Amino acid sequence: MKRYAVFGQPVLHSLSPRIHKAFAQQLGIDLDYTAIECAPGDFDGTLSSFARSGGDGANVTLPHKQRAAELCNLLSNRAKKAGAVNTLIKHEGGWLGDNTDGIGLIRDLTGRHGLDLRERRTLMLGAGGAARGVAPALLEAGIGELFIVNRDAQKADALSDLLGDPGRVHTRYMQDLGELGEFDLIVNATSAARHGALPTLPMTLFGPRSAAIDLSYGEAAVPFLAWARALGVRDFVDGLGMLVEQAAESFFLWHGQRPDTDAVYAALNERNATLMTAD
Ligand code: NDP
Repeated sequence: MKRYAVFGQPVLHSLSPRIHKAFAQQLGIDLDYTAIECAPGDFDGTLSSFARSGGDGANVTLPHKQRAAELCNLLSNRAKKAGAVNTLIKHEGGWLGDNTDGIGLIRDLTGRHGLDLRERRTLMLGAGGAARGVAPALLEAGIGELFIVNRDAQKADALSDLLGDPGRVHTRYMQDLGELGEFDLIVNATSAARHGALPTLPMTLFGPRSAAIDLSYGEAAVPFLAWARALGVRDFVDGLGMLVEQAAESFFLWHGQRPDTDAVYAALNERNATLMTAD
């Protein structure tokens, strides 16, 4: 039986084992997929033991995505552009790293939710591993200007440099959000709500045509999306669909087959829908 795992901290709540097992069942593939919790200092060693004990591939989530990219001896173009890896594929010489977060988000927004991203003036809050994965994909999907705002401004600058598109990509300080005007697309790529501390955002960011996207899902997505909804935003999307789509792309990289994502998304979204409509 082939062995896969998701590495992160915290990760025991992760839906990835459930999603990959559902895909495997659909396609008649026999696999084991577990969640492995490890602190940043233990990541290298835990991943090596996993590989030595027969691990065939892995997903990587916060806070290990950038370290995972450094440990790979081969990187896909998507991973190079992101400087972060969420999918590891074992090969003879070590790990090939890829990043499926960006394509996962774009497939969910355009395919499942029917959003046209072209020329949208975009604000991205956050510059961590997830932001690194989705920013190049948003630019490729044809958004207009991209403003990156992060609590640690140096990380926003580093991401902007990596993107290498100074005509379209700008960074701003958190305290200057009130001067940036209205955005057509606002992506919350922070993990702030996990710690119960969504940054204070000015109401002027949203207009009637804005869409609000939170890469988190479940309870962590509620504060930002509920706030956007209260301001009259009609298009709001949480990260559950992205999670399922990025998993499907990892699954394809490992097994060469594409699962049906709609059935898996629908099953997971039942509980989620209850959270999002609760007043
Ligand atoms: P990282 O730890 O790499 O980055 C966290 C980001 O959140 C950083 O930009 C950090 O800012 C910011 N942040 C954390 N706390 C606060 C706060 N209190 N106020 C303001 N900013 C804060 O995490 P990831 O980028 O991997 O994940 C970010 C979110 O995206 C998570 O909620 C995760 O669950 C979600 N995600 C969803 C996926 C999906 O498929 N739907 C895939 C990947 C991630 P700073 O740099 O200043 O510390």
